[in-house]
Amino acid sequence: MTQPMQDQPADPLFAEIDRRRDDLIALTQDLIRIPTLNPPGRKYREICDYLDARLAASGFATELIRAHGSPGDSDQYPRWNIVARHQGAGSGDCVHFNSHHDVVEVGNGWTFDPFGAELHDGRIYGRGTCDMKGGLATSIIAAEAFIACHPDYRGAIEISATADEESGGFGGVAYLAEKGYFSPDRVQHVIIPEPLNKDRICLGHRGVWWAEIETKGRIAHGSMPFLGDCAVRHMGAVIAEMEAALFPALALKRTDMPVVPDGARQSTLNINSIHGGEPVQEVSYTGLPSACVPDRCRMVIDRRFLLEEKLPEVRGELIGLLEGLKASRADFDYEIRDMHTVIPTMTDREAPVVQTVARAISQVLGRGPDYVVSPGTYDQKHIDRIGRLKNCIAYGPGILDLAHQPDEWVGVDDMMDSAKVMALSMRELLAGAE
Ligand SMILES: [Zn+2]
Repeated sequence: MTQPMQDQPADPLFAEIDRRRDDLIALTQDLIRIPTLNPPGRKYREICDYLDARLAASGFATELIRAHGSPGDSDQYPRWNIVARHQGAGSGDCVHFNSHHDVVEVGNGWTFDPFGAELHDGRIYGRGTCDMKGGLATSIIAAEAFIACHPDYRGAIEISATADEESGGFGGVAYLAEKGYFSPDRVQHVIIPEPLNKDRICLGHRGVWWAEIETKGRIAHGSMPFLGDCAVRHMGAVIAEMEAALFPALALKRTDMPVVPDGARQSTLNINSIHGGEPVQEVSYTGLPSACVPDRCRMVIDRRFLLEEKLPEVRGELIGLLEGLKASRADFDYEIRDMHTVIPTMTDREAPVVQTVARAISQVLGRGPDYVVSPGTYDQKHIDRIGRLKNCIAYGPGILDLAHQPDEWVGVDDMMDSAKVMALSMRELLAGAE
């Protein structure tokens, strides 16, 4: 059910977006040149002020919201967010575009200035171009072009730029969701322009369970380890059991969720960190360690789980492994502590926002979308769990594999195509527009 590409120029909405190509480039460059690094959370107010001026000039009512008391919020690094709303000519649904404005650290290996936003061969280079200021700029251009073409549309358009997605989103979308900004009576459709590629619709993400396991031992002099009990050796037994039984079992748990890449289409577990014995000293410390048997060892695990799994069963599997060791291994004892949980989420393919964006992708690109699920979480978790809004997808122009890499870039043509998809979607969802 695809439309031939040559139909494109006939649509005045597409012509309106084509006219804004230079504006889209300049807007993306301006956003990149505000280095909103997280951590620690730099320049959040500056980028919100910039967007405030831009969107107010386009007729949006804007609100700057600081997530007071959220993790990382301080007077030095306040967690600022912006929510901008444009009201149509009559009542109708609200389409909300949510982007995070924070970017991750620069890292090594760049050949471009990470905050120079240089345009080179149709690509804009810089930290945050792909993830996800290019997507944010695209949604703004799409909305402005749509409003210019259809000033009497019905419903409302919202654009938000939110803090801290890269560190969990608690000072951003989670905070706004708690305050009711994503409640279903205010917002009906959410599109998150994360870099999932312009021809893919991301329906959701796997679940997360972070936990800390501690094995117990008994301290003694390191020259007589038989007088103590080594917690690190007990942890070694945990790892051996994971290798022998748990990792193979996880590999067999395949999911019907269309997770990409394929390696993540199953349950996974990462050993995030492990530490036993005396604390690590500063690098400048020149002394030797003292001779002790470690009396405790801690491991942090990062378990990603599937819609087909329930959290009690995920926890139970690991606790079963530890209890088995307790029964079979002399003096084995442990504690386990939950650190963080995110429930898996996947929007139904029949949901209105999915159907609409899929049709728009067909019309712009000449073929239907791929449906994917993200291996890791993003802000959809808060919109789903706190906001109770199920009609939410991630769709944006960046290329997923470039996120967080050196020489990150976003393609101008990809942004233009995505802007057309977003604008067409608004036209379909905001009844009364013609
Ligand atoms: Zn992102």
